[in-house]
Amino acid sequence: MPIQIITIIGPPGAGKDTQAELLCKKINCYHAAISTVLSQYYPKIKESATYKQGNLFGDQLIFSALDNKLQTISKQNPTYDFFIITGLPRKLSQAQRLIKNYRNSQYYYLTTISLLVSQQQAIARTRQRLVCPVCGRTYHPRYKPPKRPGVCDYDHAKLVPRQDDTYKTTIKRFRDFAIKYLQIRPYLQKYNALIELNGNQSINNIHMQILKILDRFGKSSM
Ligand SMILES: [Zn+2]
Repeated sequence: MPIQIITIIGPPGAGKDTQAELLCKKINCYHAAISTVLSQYYPKIKESATYKQGNLFGDQLIFSALDNKLQTISKQNPTYDFFIITGLPRKLSQAQRLIKNYRNSQYYYLTTISLLVSQQQAIARTRQRLVCPVCGRTYHPRYKPPKRPGVCDYDHAKLVPRQDDTYKTTIKRFRDFAIKYLQIRPYLQKYNALIELNGNQSINNIHMQILKILDRFGKSSM
């Protein structure tokens, strides 16, 4: 049985990582945020101008890092049913690579879940957002507070603001997403690999909808 790959995309603040984390409590999966995969593979990436300006990295870089991560994880734990990758694809060429590279005997790219939020929501949710520098989990004092203020629930590291969460960068990333999504959308639909959800809903509502979708695929372990 190939390991099934699900990706979650959406503009900043859509709740991609939050949904992936919730999902991994219910099904046997490994969650990899593409930004974390990249920074583990290339530790200096956060110092680069591309990252600080909210620009996109090249496909070659991203897919080398991802291949490496998937291979490592499947060796360490061959029993995972799913890989949940957040933040991919961000443009058409990446959607094409997902179809081309990950529909084989080892991996099966099942679908992309797209969480659509308004620009207003994106700004509200990224403002004051905090991130754990160790595990990459994100928090928000209002929408997703940590158990202890300023400290990661999982590894107790001190949370820091995300470098790319400035107002200006959020607007830029939101617009970039909207433009690129217009190309990604019809392509993935053609391959029956896109599910769109209203990301303005509560975290729990979205979570329930994703579980229903997985049930429909017949793979939910609930
Ligand atoms: Zn952490």
